[in-house]
Amino acid sequence: MSMYPIELKNRTTIGSDTTIITAEKPDRFQFTAGQFTKLILPNLPATSSENWRWMSIASAPAEPELMFYLANGVSAYKRHLAGCPLGSSVAVSEPRGKFLLADDDREVVFLAGGVGIAPVRSMLVHAAAKKRTGSFWLFYSNANGNGIAFDQLFQNLTGTNLTYVPTITKLADDEPWTGERGRIDAPMLRRHFDDLRAPRYYAVGSPEFVRAMVLLLRRESVSLSQITVESFTGL
Ligand SMILES: Cc1cc2nc3c(=O)[nH]c(=O)nc-3n(C[C@H](O)[C@H](O)[C@H](O)COP(=O)(O)OP(=O)(O)OC[C@H]3O[C@@H](n4cnc5c(N)ncnc54)[C@H](O)[C@@H]3O)c2cc1C
Repeated sequence: MSMYPIELKNRTTIGSDTTIITAEKPDRFQFTAGQFTKLILPNLPATSSENWRWMSIASAPAEPELMFYLANGVSAYKRHLAGCPLGSSVAVSEPRGKFLLADDDREVVFLAGGVGIAPVRSMLVHAAAKKRTGSFWLFYSNANGNGIAFDQLFQNLTGTNLTYVPTITKLADDEPWTGERGRIDAPMLRRHFDDLRAPRYYAVGSPEFVRAMVLLLRRESVSLSQITVESFTGL
């Protein structure tokens, strides 16, 4: 497997639970929006696979840097990534994965939980750059409103027809918020579009989130052939 050594460029904490990092994009590194890679920390000992994790690429192929959006954690890997100086060496493997947009203009509904937004960001920025004409809905679920990553980007995305629906699952009734409240369910989907059986669906996030989304869609008689999933095992 090819490995590409690169330099860590930037690190931004979002709320208390997540971090966006950017790194150099290697010259020969090509990927399709929605794919993931092995993000390797060569300065950690390579014992028991501790120095790498699968990470979805949050940047779009035409963007100049690679971006990742990580759940913070206490593993040696996450602590190293949170504390190492900018400019440190990291590495990526060849991209892989089949969580990819179909090459047509059919309506698409994204169902993203937490850091599951990473590959969706890549696909939407790519679609906007290509001026894809079909409609998109993005249902983006977060536990709290302290740091909804890429919120401004999705609110202001031009170049494609996006209906952006952020939802917060743990919000006191008296807390002000203009988006949806609670977990994504069928009534929430119906508040934003009529025919649940028509679009293609892309569900991504923790295995628990993805399972819940597939169950919801199957209860609404959405065909499995219309559902593409990416489960972030390990979350
Ligand atoms: C395709 C794919 C894309 C991903 N993209 C992202 C992303 O964009 N952002 C992000 O934050 N995370 C992503 N992940 C998850 C990521 O690889 C890490 O597992 C996660 O971030 C937790 O890492 P950690 O070091 O905090 O915890 P860890 O120390 O790795 O582990 C946390 C817990 O999960 C268990 N575990 C670890 N790996 C697996 C596994 N493969 N299967 C089952 N159990 C496991 C461990 O035993 C432990 O109990 C992705 C995973 C996959 C498979």
